[in-house]
Amino acid sequence: MSDHYERVKIELQQMKEVENEAAADEEQLSPASVSPVPADLSFTARRDPSKSSINGRSRSKSRSKADAHERQVNGKQPTDPAPQGQRRVSNEPNLHVKGTARLLKVKTAANGHVESGKRQTDGKCEHHGKEDESKAAKKRKAVTVDTSKAKTSLEALKMSIRQLKWKEFPMGRRTACDIYWHGVSFHDNENINSGQVNKFPGMIEMLRKINLSRAVRTMQELFPEEYNFYPRSWILPEEFQLFSTQIRLLKDNDSTLKPTFIVKPDSGSQGDGIYLIRDPADLRVISGSQIKQAVVQEYIQKPLLIDKLKFDIRLYVLVRSLEPLEIYIAKEGLSRFCTEPYQEPSQKNLSHVFMHLTNYSLNVHSGNFVHSDSCSTGSKRTFSSVLYRLASKGVDIKKVWSDIIALVIKTVIALVPELKVYYQADIPPGKPGPTCFQILGFDILLMKNLKPVLLEVNANPSMRIEHEQEVSPGVFEYVPSPVDEEVKVGVIRDTLRLMDPAQRKQHVTSSTGGGSPEEAIVVETGSDEKEGLADSLPSLCLKQVFPKYTKQFNYLRVVERIAGIFLRFLGVKGTMRLGPTSFRTFIRNCKLSNSSFSMASADILYIDITRRWAGMLPDSREAGMCLQAFIEAFFYLAARRFKALPLREQVLLLLEICEGALEGQSHSEKPRPHRTHANPASSQSSAPTTFSSPAMTRRRHRPLQLSAKANTEN
Ligand code: ADP
Repeated sequence: MSDHYERVKIELQQMKEVENEAAADEEQLSPASVSPVPADLSFTARRDPSKSSINGRSRSKSRSKADAHERQVNGKQPTDPAPQGQRRVSNEPNLHVKGTARLLKVKTAANGHVESGKRQTDGKCEHHGKEDESKAAKKRKAVTVDTSKAKTSLEALKMSIRQLKWKEFPMGRRTACDIYWHGVSFHDNENINSGQVNKFPGMIEMLRKINLSRAVRTMQELFPEEYNFYPRSWILPEEFQLFSTQIRLLKDNDSTLKPTFIVKPDSGSQGDGIYLIRDPADLRVISGSQIKQAVVQEYIQKPLLIDKLKFDIRLYVLVRSLEPLEIYIAKEGLSRFCTEPYQEPSQKNLSHVFMHLTNYSLNVHSGNFVHSDSCSTGSKRTFSSVLYRLASKGVDIKKVWSDIIALVIKTVIALVPELKVYYQADIPPGKPGPTCFQILGFDILLMKNLKPVLLEVNANPSMRIEHEQEVSPGVFEYVPSPVDEEVKVGVIRDTLRLMDPAQRKQHVTSSTGGGSPEEAIVVETGSDEKEGLADSLPSLCLKQVFPKYTKQFNYLRVVERIAGIFLRFLGVKGTMRLGPTSFRTFIRNCKLSNSSFSMASADILYIDITRRWAGMLPDSREAGMCLQAFIEAFFYLAARRFKALPLREQVLLLLEICEGALEGQSHSEKPRPHRTHANPASSQSSAPTTFSSPAMTRRRHRPLQLSAKANTEN
């Protein structure tokens, strides 16, 4: 331990000296918390795990000690550390942690379909190109990164910055940095007026279990087929009665059905507080005197098993920008395995967490947890090793990837509307502020029929590349995890490369084209991955999927258009709630009131919906109508006007009316600059304006159909 802190001290000292020399005029801010730093500054494009850059004497010491204590578990677990004992990435042929693309390359090459050495270009041009590139790189000022708030991602971030030869400011900087790397939220550093921050305002809130379920449910109302990758969920406590009634009806209709449900506390993580039930009566709704906020969800009873074990997939997704929407998926991820052979849920095994929950933080406590040196065995493996295994059994892994890509894009599309509201509240248009990007951790389960199911999305996926280990009683040391390092440093480094201010200028707008999501996993030519980046680094491990697949998914961005209208009437005062006057203005400007829907009806609609949502969001401090309530009002207005049609068509028709009316007005007004505003469509509708009864209707609920029944899990 003392060795370790000695290293930290020395490195900090070195960094200070470098910074003092290089930027004598730049003043450091007051010291911030700094986590352990790696000793080695060297970088090899293909890392040799045996020469891991997290080495040094204390490292190797840690390893040998760690080997002796392979099964020891310390009480304080990091969020998502690597399994103890995963010391090296194995060099097995055909299986490489660099990702599916490489995996596919090897496989297809064996089939004779792909030329080897596909990344080589004609030597002459490339040579000159490289010289020019390196001259240009020398001329370019190093990109500056404020790492003072990076917390547990610090070590991987430092490695990435070194590999890129960028400049790190571990204690902040008085003048602005190009990039601010936050460990938790957008607000970790206050008053950032320029540059780029690696967190979006509101992402943590949006990804809490209840809010994610709400956002996906809104999309399920409009596009039930497209959004059936998310298990049927009920929000507690508000839907307790609905849940109980629906399950009773379901069982009454078919007595052979034995559905199981998983209950997840709203803001829980690492499996904390999660339990399985088979009867609504077993819900633990109250804790002490408090009603628990939670999501109860249909439990996927037939997951895909490997070695008889349930596993899930952690995929890293970069949201590079909200406007225009840009999404990247890391080609490599992690698979986390249960430690007890899986059996379908029965009353007897409901409490067997090592059988049902794949969380590392739980399974590491099991005596069966396997720490492996290989990335294709043990309780934590690379996703590519799992795909390789599946491919060898004849599974169409292109289809699996393609479905996963679709799931990711659709989920982000569900989140974007509310994220834009948060964004505008924190960074109002026209005021100085940074732009944002964020790495998300998608947790995905594959069903037995290979259909991917979304479990949750993490706003702050662990980027730790080492984990604490008790090397002797009471003595803890950080032990490197090569698998985590390989995957996570790649994701951070390539995120930084994509956020390089120089690269941002040559933005990828050329790839807004067609193709099916399946093309995303076709062996890559390398050209689209490079995006003009310097050749000294490996090709990007992040694959752009949006706008690449705009044509396939843009039709889903309906709620975003409703949010565009909401934002327009919200104004730029930093609020997230619409007041009654603004709602009236919306009704008036969109020409939605007439003889059968008066302004008084609009007021009643506003009050009724706003009051109900205030009850559902008890911790909200702001008064007024939130976006979800506005969407409900919008659906209601659409349903009133276009009675006989399906909801999606009703909403689209009303959108056209509203956008048409607003577009007409903006021709006479000067358009407002709007950094995160969606481009509304503009065709005027000639739809009839027949209104039904002004009585309020609650938002409709889909008829209950559990995927255990609906999906043919074979
Ligand atoms: P947490 O944030 O606490 O990890 P998750 O939603 O990720 O909560 O759930 C924890 C674990 O429970 C998952 O990793 C997965 O193994 C299992 N799980 C979660 N939801 C379901 C579900 N609907 N069906 C089957 N297993 C699930």
